[in-house]
Amino acid sequence: MPNPNGTQTVIDLTHTLDDHSPNWEGTEHSPFQARELGNLQRDGYYSRIFTTQEHYGTHLDAPAHFAGRAWTVEQIPTERLVRPLAVLNVRGKALHNPEYEVSVQDIAAWEAEHGEIPDGAVVMAYTGWDEYWSSQKKYRNEQADGLMHFPGFSLEAVQFLIKTRNVVGLGIDTMGVEKGATTTYPIHQFTAQAGIYHLENVAGLGLVPPSGATLVVAPVKLENGSGAPVRLLALVR
Ligand SMILES: [Zn+2]
Repeated sequence: MPNPNGTQTVIDLTHTLDDHSPNWEGTEHSPFQARELGNLQRDGYYSRIFTTQEHYGTHLDAPAHFAGRAWTVEQIPTERLVRPLAVLNVRGKALHNPEYEVSVQDIAAWEAEHGEIPDGAVVMAYTGWDEYWSSQKKYRNEQADGLMHFPGFSLEAVQFLIKTRNVVGLGIDTMGVEKGATTTYPIHQFTAQAGIYHLENVAGLGLVPPSGATLVVAPVKLENGSGAPVRLLALVR
């Protein structure tokens, strides 16, 4: 079946939404539950009712998550949801260093190879952390200080990307774009004010070329959403 617009491959960057994914609070009971309503044998059709948190599984953070009078999920303009994708590969530095923060130097290294990050792109950090997805303990990596420890972006890198490269979204294959051990969320504050969305718990970033793919960001169009489950597809030429 031919793909549209010269696309060679469509890569899924989404974890399946289920009741056995890591959750932010680290609870045994999953925030996602699905219950059968219609049974094929009994009713002639199959259907379910499900409940979930807005920030569970592969999801989008709307700017309203950390700022008043900012876009909620359904208000994010559609032209911001289909964008060039740049993937910063920091796996070698981050996979065994949960304190790692993506730096301006990582961006410079990407640009030395691929040219300037395209205007209006989504920039994702590939830390390799999704290898821990099947273990809530490893993925959350909560330590004796009571904080989670996983890699994220540095505030300097985020400010550089937004101010000088006009990115519209940030993504990462950990629980948050900000390192796990933060307690003050300076990146979330900054991006929310700037109208930038986040994509968290992203899957499969090792399969995408660092440059040249188009990202399709398709969140559930949830009224008043601070965030929502999202389907992420990378179109590769
Ligand atoms: Zn979130």
